[in-house]
Amino acid sequence: MLIRADLHIHSTYSDGKASPLEILSTAREKGILVVSITDHDTFAGSMYAKRYTASTGVLVVPGVEVRTDQGDILVYCSGEIDLPRRLDSLIEKAHRENCLVAPAHPFDLLRLGIGDLVYEYKDWDAIEVWNSSATKKANYKAMEAARILNKPGLSNSDAHIVDEVGVAFNLLDVSELSVESILEAIRKGRTRPVYGKAPFRARINRMLWSIEKTIRK
Ligand SMILES: [Zn+2]
Repeated sequence: MLIRADLHIHSTYSDGKASPLEILSTAREKGILVVSITDHDTFAGSMYAKRYTASTGVLVVPGVEVRTDQGDILVYCSGEIDLPRRLDSLIEKAHRENCLVAPAHPFDLLRLGIGDLVYEYKDWDAIEVWNSSATKKANYKAMEAARILNKPGLSNSDAHIVDEVGVAFNLLDVSELSVESILEAIRKGRTRPVYGKAPFRARINRMLWSIEKTIRK
């Protein structure tokens, strides 16, 4: 079966505005049956959200966006693990634990993409080729990298507010709805990225949220 998955979302556990539960109910409304809440440097948002899988019908893949010494990296696992900040050690540990590693918005250099290093560390399980918050140019360069390196491409919202959840997603071909089968589908490239941008009102709300965050600091 084909299911929709948005695998890059921030919650109140890092710099997102929406709670994990709000994210799951919005995903459900939009027909997104799988999410990963990839808060900065913590699995906490995903681990909290997992409790609501039964009540919302949305599967949560434990995930995190790690700020490594080289840039932002998405990691998806079957549970929570400790990860080093050095990129080479992170890739090694993640793979030892059967997790997937994908550079987040690699060519969005203002938001700490790893840039051309995407070609040096070749051991990716996937590459985020579309990030709805990144520029078109950055996304096109990421698509090119995935093509050259022959890696599956992921398309994600990188939502920081609830209106952005599911504006971009992946169509995954899975035999059952479980974390393991989601990870396996990505590993095997049984995934099709579906690109999308947030509507105008959501972009305004995201901007207001960024301003609010700056004032609060
Ligand atoms: Zn992010």
